[in-house]
Amino acid sequence: MNIRTWRPRRIVCLMALGCCWLVGQTAPLPPTAQLLREVIAVDTSNPPGREAALAEMLAAKLRPLGFHIDIVPTPEEGKAHLIARLKGNGTKRPVLLAAHADVVGVEREKWTIDPFAGAVKDGYLYGRGAIDFKGGVAVFTRAVMMLAENQVPLDRDVILLVEADEEGGKYNTTWLAQDHWDKIDCEFSLNEGGWILKNDEGNVDYVSISTADKSSVSLLITARGTSTHSSMPLEDNAIFRLSKAMAKLADYQTKPFLIPSTRKFFATLAKVSPAPMSEHYQNIASSNDPVKITAADEAIGKHSPLFHALIRNTIAPVFLNAGFRGNVIPGSATATVNFRLIPGTDPEELRMEIAKVVAGEGIEVGYAGFVNLSPQEMEQRRQRTMSMRPSGEDTTLYQSLVKRAKETYPEAEVTPYLFNAGTDSIAWRVRDVPVYGIYPYPITDTDLMRMHGNDERVPVESLESGTRMIYNVLMDVAASQ
Ligand SMILES: [Zn+2]
Repeated sequence: MNIRTWRPRRIVCLMALGCCWLVGQTAPLPPTAQLLREVIAVDTSNPPGREAALAEMLAAKLRPLGFHIDIVPTPEEGKAHLIARLKGNGTKRPVLLAAHADVVGVEREKWTIDPFAGAVKDGYLYGRGAIDFKGGVAVFTRAVMMLAENQVPLDRDVILLVEADEEGGKYNTTWLAQDHWDKIDCEFSLNEGGWILKNDEGNVDYVSISTADKSSVSLLITARGTSTHSSMPLEDNAIFRLSKAMAKLADYQTKPFLIPSTRKFFATLAKVSPAPMSEHYQNIASSNDPVKITAADEAIGKHSPLFHALIRNTIAPVFLNAGFRGNVIPGSATATVNFRLIPGTDPEELRMEIAKVVAGEGIEVGYAGFVNLSPQEMEQRRQRTMSMRPSGEDTTLYQSLVKRAKETYPEAEVTPYLFNAGTDSIAWRVRDVPVYGIYPYPITDTDLMRMHGNDERVPVESLESGTRMIYNVLMDVAASQ
């Protein structure tokens, strides 16, 4: 049998199963959905995470198939990273699939369905992490299991990493990479990131594969004044000074800054969107006319906060701190402002830009959270942020992702993408290992809104088509020719 592509026999088999799960919840689910149900049932809400239980559960499935298993516990009890390696002949360097095991917590009373039962309703599988990123754990795990089940000869090791502490905490992949880099070193890797976005008719409009992530920097704006009795106010009140500085920042907007992948992304949106947004997307992607760019920027900002964030360094105040007694005017007041940076941004240039915006008597702008770092350490951090370049579109992994996305979703456009937040792919990016990102299942905008929210869900069918796509990608990049 030809093992280069998904086996037709399996499709027939899945279709048969599909009929069963449409009829009733107790009927067996297709394989990836069944695995996702089991993965969701292991509650890894972070904090505390407790990913070790999930690592053990997956290891028990992978070990008998010939995977070499490494469970790396973190210093916190019950938390661990799982590294499962399927050996190849070593002709090529490994490919790594990374998916985080932890999920954000739930507001239980706001869910209409048990967030940890993996229940199926109307063709959707519900549960915390269904999209972010236990769906990815299930798809990546099923895809590598199929390589082993089908006894595919491999030119390179295929590594599955199921990670701890992506949603928060200290012991994430950056921690793992410090002492265990040899276990996760690879030629290229796949993580969460871009989207397979479906429209309301059920067709996939586009597949975006992230080639870069934004990075995060927080600045501390400090206002100083005289500390004295509140009965005798002075003109240099620190809280008023900070308020004026923050008002200036509220009225300020950074300029659009598009990297090549973002231009391609908006050119793709232009193709799949109705007027007038199609024209705005085209203008932001390729126009040189400042009037058209400004109009497009404004229209895009109103239309989508996500797209607004893709074309600029974003500004978000996150903490205010001032005062300690009702009868004392404090000598200082501070605001922490979080910025998400487009790759290529120099954090020091940004700090100077913001210092100019909020300038006033008694106002200083420094980095938040780095007070104890030496100038050399600060410089290292700056260099690290600036070194995180987008991953190339010329690798066999990226090219296979494009090819298999087009094959799996023939109606869709495929585009590179800048992911709007940070992910734990930073461990590879800082070491110059290409990382690509995808949530490997078609979902709609409405589904997407539930990620990190209530009644998170993923279409059962999407899990199976996503698994087919990822399996075929692994066949392209890892199977012996
Ligand atoms: Zn995630």
